[in-house]
Amino acid sequence: MLKNKTALVTGSTSGIGLGIAQVLAREGANLVLNGFGDSEGPIAQVREAGRAHGIRVGHHGADMSKPAEIEALMAYAASEFGGVDVLVNNAGIQHVANVEDFPVAKWDAILAINLSSAFHTTRLAMPGLRKKGWGRIVNIASAHGLVASAGKSAYVAAKHGLVGMTKAVALEAATSGVTVNAICPGWVLTPLVQRQIDDRAAREGTAVAQAERELLGEKQPSLRFTTPQQLGELAVFLCSEAGANVTGQAWAVDGGWTAQ
Ligand code: NAD
Repeated sequence: MLKNKTALVTGSTSGIGLGIAQVLAREGANLVLNGFGDSEGPIAQVREAGRAHGIRVGHHGADMSKPAEIEALMAYAASEFGGVDVLVNNAGIQHVANVEDFPVAKWDAILAINLSSAFHTTRLAMPGLRKKGWGRIVNIASAHGLVASAGKSAYVAAKHGLVGMTKAVALEAATSGVTVNAICPGWVLTPLVQRQIDDRAAREGTAVAQAERELLGEKQPSLRFTTPQQLGELAVFLCSEAGANVTGQAWAVDGGWTAQ
């Protein structure tokens, strides 16, 4: 379905981004990966997922907190892949502390990576998408883009901001063939959440499995984690013809979290 299209997934060397990249590759998209750490493993996994289509996979290590590096990433996608057709703004970090204890540098980093990076990729991608008359922007927000939790002021602010930006850009692009949507996952078991489970187990002196059950029980009525693969399948739907008139939405995949 996405053959001859190029998808850029920010923060795709791990977790949700890597899972989404694999599903888009399975649909035939060429992939531009981004993120820290080992890139060879993720490149091989994504290439394998798209093997039937002989897709191309590249990686650019831009730090998504730095606008100049984001410009270099977009220039790389333009020169090596002819630009992007599908933009998945996924890179994100977390830090948990009450507002009076929140490190200023962490606040700035969360806002830069979880929100402003999507502004920069979107502003740089939009002229090319408009020219092609087709495009898909998928912003990975969070249940925390819709509701709040204590200790997560920066994250909640950034994710609510990302949902707001999604709606505004969707309106700007409404007649252009470009749709803009947010996916709002509840708990997904990735390194970002594993750290929160480990911290909880240490804080409460419980086993990790117990901390995991408590984490789910507190927020996610299904008591099951969403998988990166499931989020990838939703991204594929949003890229499909069936999803062509879905725009400006914040779509929760949260086991009932935000229904409460
Ligand atoms: P993760 O920690 O597994 O992966 C984060 C990715 O972002 C990694 O590839 C990392 O290298 C990259 N990254 C981090 N800082 C970066 C930077 N400055 N520049 C470039 N890349 C950077 O996390 P995840 O759980 O897969 O989270 C992915 C996205 O999904 C985030 O935006 C997160 O807020 C969101 N999300 C996660 C959950 C969850 O339960 N895991 C729920 C809702 C939303």
